[in-house]
Amino acid sequence: TLLVEAQHICVQYNDHTAVNDVSLSINKGEIVTLIGPNGAGKTTLVRAILGLAPISSGLLTKKPALSIGYMPQKLQIDSTLPVTVNRFLALASRHGSNIEDALALVGIAHLSKKPIQAISGGELQRVLLARAILRQPELLVLDEPAQGVDITGQTELYALIKQIRDQLGCGVLMISHDLHLVMAATDNVICLNQHVCCSGHPETVSNDPA
Ligand code: ADP
Ligand code: ADP
Repeated sequence: TLLVEAQHICVQYNDHTAVNDVSLSINKGEIVTLIGPNGAGKTTLVRAILGLAPISSGLLTKKPALSIGYMPQKLQIDSTLPVTVNRFLALASRHGSNIEDALALVGIAHLSKKPIQAISGGELQRVLLARAILRQPELLVLDEPAQGVDITGQTELYALIKQIRDQLGCGVLMISHDLHLVMAATDNVICLNQHVCCSGHPETVSNDPA
């Protein structure tokens, strides 16, 4: 099943082209990774796919009523308000989704009663992943899920994402900085920089598209 198809997408901010002629497709059960240097347009492309940034040209097609679980790059946590992991997730939960199940799936069931301010960077990324899963997504969109996680933790996190894909059968679109780290966890890589877009199997795409 085709979840998203982008054909020759451009996103323009005033005179500046943030995304230039990018085409990609994401199928059910497929992990697609966007890779490229800072400012290459990765987040803008993701926001365009989410409907949060306007497309200036090209065609974006989505499966009707596509449910998306989005893990944004940055999260502001109000440090003055003590809230447990459980409560934090309850605030984001819809359709009575099971928070305990989501926490178990991301491997942090033991943290449910802990204040969210007291957990580590790697654990927080798993909480955010759990929050995205609570949307019962057909498509998971992850903006640098491994950010702020140590190198061992990054490998584990990408393995976890693959495991979640296997278990939920969802499609995944994620942004990463490191092709080597995501290699084992991705089916397809879209490599962006300001001028070029290339795509292919992870072993055939270089970190430097130019
Ligand atoms: P990446 O995620 O690959 O680092 P971004 O998508 O964040 O890249 O940014 C791509 C380009 O678009 C950058 O040059 C950035 O400055 C610009 N840009 C991003 N968002 C906006 C915005 N809201 N208004 C104007 N320019 C923006
Ligand atoms: P605002 O900027 O108005 O506060 P948000 O950035 O919170 O809006 O959300 C923008 C859109 O993204 C909304 O349509 C919202 O439903 C959706 N959204 C926000 N968080 C998630 C998430 N975790 N998973 C899926 N969709 C989300």
